[in-house]
Parts: sequence; structure tokens; C-alpha cells
Amino acid sequence: MIDTHTHLYSRQYGEDAAGAVERALAAGITHIVLPNTDHDSIGPLLELHRRYPKCTSIAMGLHPTDITDAWPEDLAEVEQQLDTDKCVAVGEVGMDLYHDRSRREEQREVFARQLRMAIDRGLPVIIHCREALEDTLDVLRSIEAEGRGLPPLVFHSFTGSADDVRRIREVCDPMFGINGVVTFKNSVPLQEALSEIGLDRIVLETDSPYLAPVPYRGKRNESAYLPEVCRKIAQLTGKTPAQIEAVTDANARRLFDLPT
Ligand SMILES: [Zn+2]
Repeated sequence: MIDTHTHLYSRQYGEDAAGAVERALAAGITHIVLPNTDHDSIGPLLELHRRYPKCTSIAMGLHPTDITDAWPEDLAEVEQQLDTDKCVAVGEVGMDLYHDRSRREEQREVFARQLRMAIDRGLPVIIHCREALEDTLDVLRSIEAEGRGLPPLVFHSFTGSADDVRRIREVCDPMFGINGVVTFKNSVPLQEALSEIGLDRIVLETDSPYLAPVPYRGKRNESAYLPEVCRKIAQLTGKTPAQIEAVTDANARRLFDLPT
């Protein structure tokens, strides 16, 4: 089972980062994708990856809520990393207008530039989109209008409705990263969106340390809890957990070109 989005290198784990990877492996997680967030996270991310080079992969990007006045330098560093270490994606990048709308224009610019970096290198893009669907789709449309198409995409931590899925598909045909939110009692629209998405477009993720699934809700999340997400999707779609694991693993391998 592949965790396509987890920040096990982040400071919430401290000395326990390797422990979290070991627990994940013991829980049946076979591969982990580590998306970057900002300048400071690059070091710890690379360190964890070097400790577990076979079962972890790197995605490199500047997260929209980590944009500061130093973003041109931060983006240059991201681009340099993309050409230094083997990265399976550009990410996580995108738009987030939930806490702060003041850098909206910069978010759009930084997102667009990172989409171009992915196109230049033939990499997929891990999209973070919070309270910003219209802006996100607008940037994607403008990139497509440049004439080189769009890279393969995943809308990570997708928590929208079936209607959102349809709006997104007017612009692109992404994967959707489903995490612990699907286990929450109040996530009925998302649960209903699963059939609109279809199993061939779903990848599993934890987004650790955030969004721990039931029965760990509210605790620090980790990749070892991913089977709870798998079980819930199985229950909602009338499949077995093994079937969900097989199809979502195949989706993740295709998206990120991971070894089988
Ligand atoms: Zn994330």
C-alpha cells in the first residue's frame, strides 16, 4: 500500500521520523512519497530519504502558504533540487486562500512557474488546493493555453463534492488523493464524490502529521494509519480492502512512475 503524500520528515516527528517509517513498513506500507513544503524542510526531507532510499520518494516544491518575500530564491532552490536529486513529482504546490488572501497574486505566479518546471522535466504535479478552486483552475487553464498541455496532476487531500469533481474535469483529468477526511462522520459529500471520481482515479494518502483517520482523529497522524483510509473506501465502494489497495497502488505507480 502506497502513501502518496506524507510529511514524516516534519518537526512534529523529531527523533521519531525513522520510527514512523518503520511502523509504516510494519503496517504494510510499501512506498512513501515525501512532498516538500518550504526552504527549511528540504534538509530533513533529504535526510529521511537518504536513510530509506528504496521505500521513499521525493517531491520538490514550494507550498502556497510558505510563500514569503524570498519566494524567487526559494523557487530557484526548488528548481536546483529538481535537477540534483531524483524527484518523482513537483509538489506540493498550488493555491491556499483559507487563512490568508494577501499573497493571492504571488501564489498564482509561483504555482504557474512550478507547473512549467514540471512540464519542462516531464514530471507530475502534486496540487494543494484549499478554498481556492477557481484560482487553481484558472492557473491551470492559463498554463494549458501556453500550448504545451498540462502535466499529470493529483489533487492531493481532496475533500470536495461530486460537483467539484465535475468542475475540475472541465479543465483537467487528475488523480484525487483521498486521506483520513473520508473517515470523518461529517464528510458525506466527499464520500458521495468517490463514485463520481471512480476507483481508477484515486490514490491513497495520509497527509501526515495532519488529518489522522478515525479512530486516531485529532492525534498526530502517520503513514502506518493508511490502512484505515483504505478500509473506509472499501466499505463505501463495496470492494475489499485488498481490491482498493491493488487499484490505488497501480494508480500511484502510474502517476509517479514508481518501481513495482
Ligand atoms: Zn501536504
